[in-house]
Amino acid sequence: MRATVRTGLKAAVNDPLTGLYNRRYAMPYLAQMAVRARDNGASFAVMIADLDHFKRINDQFGHASGDAVLVAVADRLRGCLRKTDMVARIGGEEFLIVTPAPTLAQAQTAALRVCDAISSSAINLPPPHAPVTITASIGMALCDLDRHPAKDCDDIGEALLAQADKALYAAKGRGRNQVKLGRPAA
Ligand code: GH3
Ligand code: MG
Ligand code: MG
Repeated sequence: MRATVRTGLKAAVNDPLTGLYNRRYAMPYLAQMAVRARDNGASFAVMIADLDHFKRINDQFGHASGDAVLVAVADRLRGCLRKTDMVARIGGEEFLIVTPAPTLAQAQTAALRVCDAISSSAINLPPPHAPVTITASIGMALCDLDRHPAKDCDDIGEALLAQADKALYAAKGRGRNQVKLGRPAA
């Protein structure tokens, strides 16, 4: 029974396709990181990585090929992140990464590493399709507690996500395959 419960718990927080965490796990995790940042000053960065023109893969090569790309991207994300990072699939072709980042420079280095890892080499598709290369756009937000010291930690998580999402939108508008840093709402 213990094994059954464990399997059930794992299913509740994991995305079945990629094995990454899902949104249900990621959101409270983000709030928890905000608590730690508030209490210990442990600053962190939030990234939303969205695959570029992913729909074309499905349209040209079929849904199974799209799934293969998602699985390969998840492997690349796992490969380029550290134990202290959290990566989740929070939407169809959208990934959330939360990483401890003492400085903005470190956060930017991490985001560029993620961007490069995704596009580093072509991804194998099911036969008869040739391998394809995919890129991602990344919106990033740095937890800045001076901006919202008194706020609820759930709200801080939401605010960071909104900030990263806005930056992602800007990265798409500027031509994709790049990292943009979000600014806190005034
Ligand atoms: P953009 O560069 O602007 O992000 O374009 P896009 O094509 O990546 O974005 P869009 O939102 O137009 O398309 C996302 C597609 O992802 C549409 C949907 O069918 C597909 N998708 C969502 N979840 C899955 C999945 O689990 N498997 C597969 N194969 N496709 C999925
Ligand atoms: Mg998307
Ligand atoms: Mg996309």
